Amino acid sequence: MATTDGVSNGMTEPCDVCETDTLHEVSIQLITESGSGDNAQYSREPYRVRECARCGNRDSKRMNNA
Ligand SMILES: [Zn+2]
Repeated sequence: MATTDGVSNGMTEPCDVCETDTLHEVSIQLITESGSGDNAQYSREPYRVRECARCGNRDSKRMNNA
C-alpha cells in the first residue's frame, strides 16, 4: 500500500524517537486516574493519545491542565 495523507485521524507531527515529522494516529481517550493523597477520588481525564505510524512510539498528553 502506498503512503498517503488520506488517513482519517492521521496527523503529521514531530516524533521524539524518529526526530522528524511522521504520521501519527491520534485519538482522545478517557483515562481513569487514582487521586493522589488521602482523597481516594477517581476521575476520568481526557488524554490526547498519539502513536507514531513509523516507529510505534506512543505518548499521551493530558488535555486539561488542572
Ligand atoms: Zn516515530
